[in-house]
Amino acid sequence: MDHKKVRVRFAPSPTGGLHLGGVRTVLFNYLFAKQHKGDFVLRIEDTDQTRYVPGAEEYINECLRWCGLTPDESPEVGGPFGPYRQSERKPLYRQYAEQLVKAGHAYYAFDTPEELESMRERLKTPENPSPQYNHVVRAKMRNSLTLSDAEVQDLLAKNTPHVIRISMPANEDITFTDLVRGEVTFHTSQVDDKVLLKADGMPTYHLAVVVDDYLMKITHAFRGEEWLPSAPVHLLLWKFLGWEADMPQWAHLPLILKPDGNGKLSKRDGDRLGFPVYAMNWRDPASGDITKGFRERGFLPEAFINMLAMLGWNDGTEQEIFSLEELISKFSLERVHKAGAKFDFEKAKWFNHQYIHHKDNESLAALFQPVLDEKGVTAAPDYVATVAGLVKERCYFVNEIWDHGFFFFQSPDTYDEAAVKPKWNADKDAFFQVWSAQLESLSAAPAADLEAAFKALAAEKNLKMGDVQLPFRIMLTGGKFGPPVFDIVATLGVAETRNRIAKGLAAFQ
Ligand code: GLU
Repeated sequence: MDHKKVRVRFAPSPTGGLHLGGVRTVLFNYLFAKQHKGDFVLRIEDTDQTRYVPGAEEYINECLRWCGLTPDESPEVGGPFGPYRQSERKPLYRQYAEQLVKAGHAYYAFDTPEELESMRERLKTPENPSPQYNHVVRAKMRNSLTLSDAEVQDLLAKNTPHVIRISMPANEDITFTDLVRGEVTFHTSQVDDKVLLKADGMPTYHLAVVVDDYLMKITHAFRGEEWLPSAPVHLLLWKFLGWEADMPQWAHLPLILKPDGNGKLSKRDGDRLGFPVYAMNWRDPASGDITKGFRERGFLPEAFINMLAMLGWNDGTEQEIFSLEELISKFSLERVHKAGAKFDFEKAKWFNHQYIHHKDNESLAALFQPVLDEKGVTAAPDYVATVAGLVKERCYFVNEIWDHGFFFFQSPDTYDEAAVKPKWNADKDAFFQVWSAQLESLSAAPAADLEAAFKALAAEKNLKMGDVQLPFRIMLTGGKFGPPVFDIVATLGVAETRNRIAKGLAAFQ
């Protein structure tokens, strides 16, 4: 074991919104870094300028803030290994590509787009519709392997547009140990001669990711399984650049699958099945289309994080609810599954429900305040907190505090009359007249005392508790719902309760 400080990175390309799989990659990186008292780096991989989308980087920063997974080093906060945006590091990549050419592991390729196109046309077959530039094809193309030195020097001197490609060995096994998947082997013949440096001098992802992981002293590289096919290119680059001893340990994290397990969960599945797939709402700047996010759907960040942690990991027990601190201490790559994790929106809602149920009333009230503002309702924070406390166990989302507790903020205008009127009579009416008068002396009484007084009065008047309690509830809320009646009374207060009794009696006549 060496004792290098643990350094991990999340290295997104700023091409759009952040998929929940991306946030889970952030989370596992973060947990591992914190557990080992290491550093969590955010690096923006923006070398593919054709895919750059304005606003995407800001969105990523905001997502990490919302989730509470903030990086120790990033374009925003800086750090000793900056710049952290690859486009700003452009000048430093060419030397490594040239070093590879000198060592015979890469070559200049001068093929024009037309030449590449005609190669594909010429070689394509039904089995192989898009032939690749590989160890066989390169022998027939215009590159520094097929041209004479003099020709190459001449073309370079004339600034002829060219790329630098890796020279994939023709027939080698490349094996590495993945921290999740164990030993993984690729055969080099399956891999094409990837471009490392583009004609405009920008590195491709493959070169930049290796150079930057090296220069930024990354010790562990965790990323989605979709990057596994790129691993052999990266491994060879580490080797060819002479940096093998410093290569990070790899972990390719399992995919997040569609609810039916049939393939990777995509943004389109969310639209189709009616649940969010992105962390936060994302507005495509070109089309203006909005892709819905968990944040705007009403998820608490702590519930979102907990849910993500369980997509592909568990601690070996039945426990499902973990605070971030617990996740930091318990997380282990050995317990990350190899198989993809099916996404289940009902389960995600269950996590949110758990967190809402156990959240303190004051925080819930603060989160609910925007809903009240939108409805033009003003209420004291203490009052809102009490309401939140009474209804939270029924809520999956913060805005449902309104659905389950709207009558705390407005007197009902309509009543479930069918539940009251058929059994309504003069005795009940008289009972409520007396009860309303009695309430005057009960202001500030706790719910239990209110209930005891109500019961005593019902007994005195020879009425069954159920026969008067249901109409009472309906006077207060409008229907057969809500928390315990006397909690409602204690919250509304005696004056408002008496108003509602009067209004209800008028309606039930
Ligand atoms: N830039 C890659 C991405 O967009 C990074 C993959 C990796 O972590 O190596 O996800």
